[in-house]
Amino acid sequence: MTDTPQAPRSRREPGPTPPLEPLVDTHAHLDDPRLRPQLREILARARRAGVMQVVAIGTTAADSADVAALASEHPGVFAAVGFQPNNVVEAVEGDWARIVELASAPRVVALGETGLDRHWDRTPFDLQRDWFQRHLDLALERDLPVVIHCRNCEADIVAQLAAMGSPVRGVLHSFTGDRDQAEAFLALGLHISFAGMLTFGNRNLDALREAAAAVPLDRLLVETDSPYLTPQPLRGRGNEPAYVAWTARKLAEVRGIDERELARAVTANARALFRLPEADVLVGHPPETP
Ligand SMILES: [Zn+2]
Repeated sequence: MTDTPQAPRSRREPGPTPPLEPLVDTHAHLDDPRLRPQLREILARARRAGVMQVVAIGTTAADSADVAALASEHPGVFAAVGFQPNNVVEAVEGDWARIVELASAPRVVALGETGLDRHWDRTPFDLQRDWFQRHLDLALERDLPVVIHCRNCEADIVAQLAAMGSPVRGVLHSFTGDRDQAEAFLALGLHISFAGMLTFGNRNLDALREAAAAVPLDRLLVETDSPYLTPQPLRGRGNEPAYVAWTARKLAEVRGIDERELARAVTANARALFRLPEADVLVGHPPETP
């Protein structure tokens, strides 16, 4: 739909995303080998699409160190450090101490991604719960927000958060549930973040769009989850932070509000939740971009 016979484009060089400013991509795996080799160009494209800031997300001790390093190298990039529940099974002695240490590194603005996952049967569930709790306790101790991954575990996560006994500062990332589930997370104090799935045509995602319309404007966030979950009309390519604009537009459409108003709101929410300094933004002009 974006390609015409007169102007063919390769899959590696997507056309520019129509800008929507300001945006924050609150969840991107910038250290992924699909993104990292061209990171300067990717971040510049993001800036030109209106993305001011990106939160780069860790999923193991090693890549948490990686995203913290990327954050220190790139203006407008911040890091979340943590262990994704599916990776916890591979954790070795010293990994948690590493996360605790990284939590105080400069430009680390959150803990995660952490959470629970019943879809991939890789990590014993008790072990997932134990690591989720470590992240939650550390978040409380350091006053950092948590980035929560949830796959087929809505009730488990609600139960574990409720047992904390006080509201949790953080985000349920790449939300895929329905309105009731969104409300349960909101009641616990969380923000809800929407990714590319919101833009997919599948009728079974109408419940997701209904949830997206119902979340209060001051609790909404957007993300790419790059390199995964590429939004329409680019589904099929690898995802990158610039494409968060497509998801934000869809979110505005679903809610029936002006896209600029939506952008300003979700960006203010992201900056408040992650305490991002407003002047620290991506650079829009890398060395020779096509
Ligand atoms: Zn992720």
